[in-house]
Amino acid sequence: MLVVMKAQATPEEIQAVCDHIESLGYRAHPMPGAQRTAVGITGNQGEADRGNLEELSGVAEVIRVSKAYKLASRDVKEEDTVIRFAGTDATIGGRGLAMVAGPCSIESREQAFAIAEQVTASGVQFFRGGAYKPRTSPYAFQGLGLEALRILAEIREQFGLRIVTEALDTESLELVAEYADVIQIGARNMQNFSLLKRAGRLRKPVLVKRGLSATLEEFLMAAEYVMSEGNYEVILCERGVRTFADHARNTLDLSIIPAVQRVSHLPILVDPSHGTGKRDQVLPMARAAVAAGADGILVEVHHQPEKALSDGPQSIHPEQFARMMDELGQIAPVVNRQLPRGIRIEAGATE
Ligand code: PEP
Ligand code: MN
Repeated sequence: MLVVMKAQATPEEIQAVCDHIESLGYRAHPMPGAQRTAVGITGNQGEADRGNLEELSGVAEVIRVSKAYKLASRDVKEEDTVIRFAGTDATIGGRGLAMVAGPCSIESREQAFAIAEQVTASGVQFFRGGAYKPRTSPYAFQGLGLEALRILAEIREQFGLRIVTEALDTESLELVAEYADVIQIGARNMQNFSLLKRAGRLRKPVLVKRGLSATLEEFLMAAEYVMSEGNYEVILCERGVRTFADHARNTLDLSIIPAVQRVSHLPILVDPSHGTGKRDQVLPMARAAVAAGADGILVEVHHQPEKALSDGPQSIHPEQFARMMDELGQIAPVVNRQLPRGIRIEAGATE
């Protein structure tokens, strides 16, 4: 259920509505919008008791949200969610495209710095590298763990890039959250509900990758798990699904972009690296993703892909990444977007 406040409702009136909802034993989620604030209600099984919500001061109407996902839905929040990063002009969602680049795994300080330097020169704002890796084989490289997180922190410091890295399990989540600006939940964990809930208790943006066979509703329900705990900064990421096609590692489902945007206010990025698994398919699919309306691209870049400890065949060279930035910069205005050029740290910012 959703309480729509009047446009002129005061903060006190909104607070009183939230208190009332909580007194009924539910959870209140105030979602400020451009025109008005809506307060989502969760915690009810079946129809929530409306109590006398409609009579409270400042309330315009109380409506039922029929979709399974509530807080992720446009019924609750009409405007697109834009996630901002204190101290920079970087955003995810909104008019600027978010470019997230880096190696699949952080393998060493030298490797990470070499790649960070080159992608920074191409103008990215987000650096991504795995410290904890979900690998199909227990014998494959599992990531450097804390050592990699420390390297990422140094990169953040030196280049001003915001850091995206994956939390593999609830045990490492808090540690990852200390170092990351955005916490990635991988495709295999998209329905790890305890991990999603724990990430929802943090106050850091969470990037949820689509599960290997997840429907649109399952994908949005993963976001809903995070949001239901009070963390509304969720970013979706399409990374390809399993099909019979064998010309690519996965089938990148770009049609999910308009499908998500129709029903949800959350930003959606596209990962053409895992989405194709093949270096030569990455750039064409990145172009297509931006043309289809993606809010940004998450891509694996390696300065020596043939030596990469994970996902070498799908990692593009830094020069190819530079070309990608150039081409996406040309496509962006056609779809009323723009490609931010590089990191600008606001003067005097401490974060
Ligand atoms: C990754 O991002 O390196 C990764 C393992 O992705 P996914 O969870 O989409 O397979
Ligand atoms: Mn990878």
